[in-house]
Parts: sequence; C-alpha cells; structure tokens
Amino acid sequence: MFDTPALATTVCSLSHVTRYAEALVPTEYGPVRTVVYRVGDAVPPEEHVALVVGDVDRGQAPVLTRVHSECWTGEVLHSHKCDCREQLDQALRAVVAAGRGVVVYLRQEGRGIGLGNKVRAYALQNEGVDTVDANRILGFADDARTYGVAAAILRDLGVRRVALMTNNPSKVKGLTDSGIVVADRVALKAEPNEHNAEYLAVKARKMGHSL
Ligand SMILES: [Zn+2]
Repeated sequence: MFDTPALATTVCSLSHVTRYAEALVPTEYGPVRTVVYRVGDAVPPEEHVALVVGDVDRGQAPVLTRVHSECWTGEVLHSHKCDCREQLDQALRAVVAAGRGVVVYLRQEGRGIGLGNKVRAYALQNEGVDTVDANRILGFADDARTYGVAAAILRDLGVRRVALMTNNPSKVKGLTDSGIVVADRVALKAEPNEHNAEYLAVKARKMGHSL
C-alpha cells in the first residue's frame, strides 16, 4: 500500500507530525483527497486529517483553507447546540467549488477538552451557565485548542499562504504564530436557531468571533 517511500516517511516541520495514509474518497461533495497524519507514537494514535482538493502546493493565490475542530455532537448527532456541522459543510462545498483548497480536520473534540467534558459542560449550560463559563467551572481555558499541528500539516502539503475560512480571530493568530501567512479571511455564515442563538452570541461577545 505504501509503495511511495516519500509518502510513508514524510516528516513535517513539527517533527512529531507524520503523514501516515492517503486515499481519494468519493463524497457527496465530490472526490476528496483524504490525508491522515499522526502526532507522535501514542497508543491509541493521535490522528488528524487533511481533506485536500486540487493542487494546493502550486500557484500564487492563497489556498482556500479551513482549520476545523471535530464536533461529534454537531457532526454526527446533528445537535442544534452549535454551528460546527454547517461550517464544515460550507467549507467542503467551498473548496470543491473553488477546485483548490484544504480542510484540516483536527480531532480535538469540544474545543480540546474531550467529549465527556464537553457533555459535562452541556449539563452546566442546561442549568443556565454560558459556554465560556461552563468551561471555566470545569477548570479549562476558554479554548484549549492549539494550531501548531494544523500549521505543520499545511506546511507538509506545501501550503504557506492561506485564505482562511473562519469567524475566529484567535484561529488567525494561532496559525500566524505558527508560521502560516493568513493572506485573507473568508467569513462563514451561521444560522441561529432557538438552541444555538445564545451560544453564537457568547462566541461573539466573549470570544471575539465576528458573527
Ligand atoms: Zn459543535
């Protein structure tokens, strides 16, 4: 399967992020090159994914890019508590429509606190605590995600300059600090509903998202 030595042994700039597997996957969006990266040699492995369309390592134009954090409740359960699934959907449609782009899918559930703690935070929110304060009560930072791994994955794909699809200024800063040039920012639309309106408002008010 790994007859291309360069593929199996690629080591990214962040020395412990390695390209592990790659295949073209047919999806409802179209064919998507699915590249799996491993961080270190933990058991079970820590894996993240780059969903790639077109030649992202060539051309002058910034590469349309989203750095997306896993949301099991939103993406699998179609939870109404957040807009993660809609953002992932918009991002994949956009890169396929552009014929060139990357969605880096970081498997860091619940802004990095894990699924169990995220559901504990939901329990607090059901008692009226907002999303940021719920994390603080559980002893976590507002947003525990880091973007060094995403930057290493982008560098490995040959992407240096991006047009970043995000409403989150800390994501722009995180990537910039990790050496990726964010040449442009592309806003994503969020559709408020009765369950997530307050969540979106808190993201805008307390976390500086432009919604
Ligand atoms: Zn979500």
